[in-house]
Amino acid sequence: MRIGVDIDGVVSDSYTFWLGELNRHYGKNVKEIHDYQMHLIFDVPWEDMNNFFIENVERLFMTPSPMPGARGALDRLRRAHQIYLVTARREVEEEITLRWLGLHKIPYDELMVVGDRNKAEVCLEYRLELFIEDYAGNAAKIAAAGVPVIILDAPYNRVDLPREVTRCYNWGQILQVINTR
Ligand SMILES: [Mg+2]
Repeated sequence: MRIGVDIDGVVSDSYTFWLGELNRHYGKNVKEIHDYQMHLIFDVPWEDMNNFFIENVERLFMTPSPMPGARGALDRLRRAHQIYLVTARREVEEEITLRWLGLHKIPYDELMVVGDRNKAEVCLEYRLELFIEDYAGNAAKIAAAGVPVIILDAPYNRVDLPREVTRCYNWGQILQVINTR
């Protein structure tokens, strides 16, 4: 099976690290990211937070740990499936993404840095048969395109989703769901 896998919040535990860094930068004490639009939680303009990410790209993208169990699970999956990492990161962030993946020895077949492109379109173009995602907006779009989705639970994605979206709480569960399909 050709499996698409998102990076931030799925393979990389980015949000845990970013929450601490954003609290420090903005002098706040936000406890959890309950909205995927992080600038809304911190009550700052999108451009402002975007600049913070651009200016601190090295630290913000290289420091996060992998999500617990992600590396082992991807290793297992790759024995029987192809893993396409599909991220909305920008093209200029491809090099740093490759370095982080190498640093943590994340197993995958192909990396696709798609920026603003609709991930549902990417799924269809690359004939992906399953997608693992954490952003509810993407999950709904991908499911609507006919591709089953596993959503890795997070405070910011606890909304009603189509039946084609299966919620999992960790990578162990994701493996179970894939193996029993
Ligand atoms: Mg994500």
